[in-house]
Amino acid sequence: MHRQPEHVMTFLLAEMGTSGSLDGQQRIVVKGRFAPKNFEGILRRYVNEYVICNGCKSPDTILSKENRLFFLRCEKCGSGRSVAQIKAGFIARVGRRKAGT
Ligand SMILES: [Zn+2]
Repeated sequence: MHRQPEHVMTFLLAEMGTSGSLDGQQRIVVKGRFAPKNFEGILRRYVNEYVICNGCKSPDTILSKENRLFFLRCEKCGSGRSVAQIKAGFIARVGRRKAGT
């Protein structure tokens, strides 16, 4: 699953309504206590929404940002679709590291 850890994290945090960060190994560190089961359910939703191709069900897709919209393109069948943007607010927190550039 070649997806940006930041994007996965943004989705996780938005869904759980909490805050967190990525550590040096690109692992997601979440504040508060959450059962692994919660993560699984949310990750599954993430995969369905942002990874799996609607046409051929392939996970070989590329997520790109075009004109402020996230666009999912399938590498297998070539079909594409726009995907919902993750709730704002958390994005600002994640993007802070790059704010100065
Ligand atoms: Zn496809």
